[in-house]
Amino acid sequence: NQQFRLAARPVGLPVAANWQLLEEALAPLEEGQVRVKVLYLSLDPAMRGWMNEGKSYIRPVAIGEVMRAGAVGVVVESRSPRFAAGDHVSGAFGVQRYWTGAADEKSGVVKIDPALAPLPAWLNVLGMPGMTAYFGLLEVGQPKAGETVVVSAAAGAVGMTVGQVARQLGCRVVGIAGGADKCRFVVEELGFDACIDYKEGPLGPGLKQHCPNGVDVYFDNVGGEILDAVLTRINMKARIVICGAISQYNNTTPVKGPANYLSLLVNRARMEGIVVFDYAPRYPEGVARLAQWLREGSFRHREHVVEGFEKFPEALLMLFEGKNFGKLVLKIAEA
Ligand code: NDP
Repeated sequence: NQQFRLAARPVGLPVAANWQLLEEALAPLEEGQVRVKVLYLSLDPAMRGWMNEGKSYIRPVAIGEVMRAGAVGVVVESRSPRFAAGDHVSGAFGVQRYWTGAADEKSGVVKIDPALAPLPAWLNVLGMPGMTAYFGLLEVGQPKAGETVVVSAAAGAVGMTVGQVARQLGCRVVGIAGGADKCRFVVEELGFDACIDYKEGPLGPGLKQHCPNGVDVYFDNVGGEILDAVLTRINMKARIVICGAISQYNNTTPVKGPANYLSLLVNRARMEGIVVFDYAPRYPEGVARLAQWLREGSFRHREHVVEGFEKFPEALLMLFEGKNFGKLVLKIAEA
């Protein structure tokens, strides 16, 4: 069983020396356990945070531990009544070719239906990013029909679903993304009302043009200067969903907070964080609603598939350079 383990904590962007590629023999199954052959690994911006020491919403990956990762795979051996060989499953299987463990309720291992959507989509719209978008927008953002919703990293995994859910609710939806191709995709394929290319120049004029009635909900995936720019355009009682701050994850200096935060005071607005895991008991509800929209054909998803287990370290970096176009997944075995 090949595994990527955390060898050392990174300073700034992760480098090769932060990883150790190990080979380990597979142990025989114990009663209640299953063995999963991992097919697709989810590469997530959050992985960078999990590599850091210190208190967070989840404990850090320990030095020498297999790197944490969400994944989908197929059960190849089972001594659990809950799963049979051949079942497709998702879970936190880690960056390794096989996962062996107790498949009880607590494990978080769940069956997925490849007939409903292709396997990589279970790491995207029907997986963790989709749940983040769905519950983060609805529960924290609380958008109403006719309001203006802005979302950053709009062509990415979370962003694409945020915008499409907002559109379903009858909101005006404006994306922010890097580059003309991503902006075109967001408007033409996903049906956003507009998309602003933040690499083209300052955001101010685009926000003014495309949010003529101001911003009611800002779903923030990136933090930094983009958050600051949107703060200058918010309406009374605006809701800012703090989902992530990818522009800050590889800082070697402290995270830069918003200079324009007094806009919250002036507009009696709020900023609130979301951690998707809090909604785990409600995932079935999110999956059902998103699957329904997928079936109706009005909803799109896009995955960026990189192939090869050994490519893990370099593929992860794509997220921080905007080189992924859609949800980034690593294919490590044939289904
Ligand atoms: P994406 O698929 O959106 O990929 C990351 C994208 O971020 C890149 O493609 C790039 O898009 C953009 N980006 C990278 N660096 C910068 C930068 N310096 N400034 C602006 N944009 C940048 O990833 P996800 O959808 O998986 O994650 C999006 C955000 O959601 C992350 O912050 C992540 O941590 C957060 N998240 C939070 C969760 C929670 O529970 N709170 C759960 C899941 C995700 P572009 O080319 O447009 O710049």
